[in-house]
Amino acid sequence: MTISRLLLWLVLPVAAFAHGPGNAGTFSGKRVLFIGIDGCRADAVTTAIERGMAPQLKAISQDKNGLLTLKCYAGGDLGKPTHQPTVSGPGWTSLLTGVWMNQHGVKDNRFIGGRMRTYCHFMRRIKEVRPKAFCASFTDWPPIHDFIADGSRDNGKEFLDVKFTCVPDSKRHFIDNPEKDIEVRDEALKTLRNHNPDAMFVYFGQVDEFGHGAVDSRANFSPDSTLYLNAISHVDSHVGELIRAMRSRPKFAEEDWLVLITTDHGGRGNSHGGDSDVERNIWLVAHGVNLSRDRLLHHPVPQTALVPMIYAHLGITPKPEWTPEPPKPPPSPEPAKKP
Ligand SMILES: [Zn+2]
Repeated sequence: MTISRLLLWLVLPVAAFAHGPGNAGTFSGKRVLFIGIDGCRADAVTTAIERGMAPQLKAISQDKNGLLTLKCYAGGDLGKPTHQPTVSGPGWTSLLTGVWMNQHGVKDNRFIGGRMRTYCHFMRRIKEVRPKAFCASFTDWPPIHDFIADGSRDNGKEFLDVKFTCVPDSKRHFIDNPEKDIEVRDEALKTLRNHNPDAMFVYFGQVDEFGHGAVDSRANFSPDSTLYLNAISHVDSHVGELIRAMRSRPKFAEEDWLVLITTDHGGRGNSHGGDSDVERNIWLVAHGVNLSRDRLLHHPVPQTALVPMIYAHLGITPKPEWTPEPPKPPPSPEPAKKP
C-alpha cells in the first residue's frame, strides 16, 4: 500500500461519517435557527426597535439578507375552519407543525384532542427523511416538549438530539421566568458551539409572562408598558448572543443558515386568546440568502408558513401524507321534527 493510499484509507471512513461543521453536514451546510418569543406584540417590537431597545432584532432584520415583516398572523382565518384562539397551545403547535387547529386539533393549553401523531413536529419529519440530522429544542414552556414534541413521537422513539426543558415556578407566578430564559439561552449556546445542529428551536417565555402581569403586576401587553418593552429588550440580548455564537462557528462562512424569529400571538391588557388585531397580527424576522422577500413583505404570512420555509431551505420535499385532509366534523344532529 502506497503512503497516499494508506492516507486515503485512514481518511475515508472519517469523511464518510463526517457530520462536521461547514458544508459537510446532512444538508450540505444548510441549517436552521428558529427562535420563539412568546406573547410578543407586533407594535411593541417595532416600538422597541425604534427606541433602541431591540438592537439585535433591528440589526438582523436590516441586514441585506434580513427582513422584518408585519404581515404575519396568528389565529387562523376568521370565519373558516382554520380559525383558532390566539393562545400558546394552538399557536406553537401551528408554528411547529405547519398546520392550523382544524388539522392539529389543539384548541387550548390542555392539548386534549391533539393529533400530533398525524401532524407532526417538523423535526420528527426531518429525522424521518434524514435520520442522521441533528435536531435540538430548548424551552421553558414545558408543553412544547411534553405535548407537541412527545405527542409527535412514533412508537415512543425520541427524535430530538437535544431536548432541554426547564420549568418555571408556577406557584411563584412565573416570577423566575427571566432566569429560566437565561438557562435556555445558555444550553442553546452550548449546542451551537459544541455540536453541529441542522435545526434548532429556542423558546423564550418571559415576554408573555410580563404581558400577563405575572412577573410584575404593573406590566401589560402594550407598547406603552415600559416593563413589557424591557422584557423584549432582555430577550433581544439573548437573540444577539445566539446570533453571535452562530456566526462564530469555525466554518460559518461555508454554512447557510436560515434564521426565523417570531411569536405565537400578541395580547391585550393582561390577556390574549381573542380575535382582535393586537392579538392576531404578529411579526416575523427572517434572515437568509434565499428569502422570498416579496411574498414575506407584501402578502399575508400565516404562522403555518414557517415549517414549509424550513423544509424548502433544507431541500426536503414534504410528503402529502404529512398533512392529510382534516378529519370531517361530526354531522350535526337532525333538527327535531315538529309534532
Ligand atoms: Zn400568555
